[in-house]
Amino acid sequence: MIEILDDWCKGCEICIIRCPVDALEMSDIMNRKGVRVPRLKEDNKCNQCMLCELLCPDFAIKVIKEEKEETEEKECKLIIGGVCAE
Ligand code: SF4
Ligand code: SF4
Repeated sequence: MIEILDDWCKGCEICIIRCPVDALEMSDIMNRKGVRVPRLKEDNKCNQCMLCELLCPDFAIKVIKEEKEETEEKECKLIIGGVCAE
């Protein structure tokens, strides 16, 4: 999931241009600075690489990773010494 901190964004489009899977686009939402802010495309292939978050000069975009490890632990039926032994 991507979170945009609207009012911190200056609309520079670095996140859109540099996304390796072209997952972002400009929205019609204007922030208090009067610039349009990015959003995830409806049909996107975001792989949570975090590049947009790392490259945003204004810390205006955050990648919220899904808790994959927890899910994997829950699915494992046999854990020995803290390690899944299946
Ligand atoms: S989120 Fe950051 S990188 Fe993307 S347009 Fe806004 S300021 Fe630029
Ligand atoms: S996390 Fe990576 S793939 Fe997802 S929108 Fe940001 S740059 Fe693109």
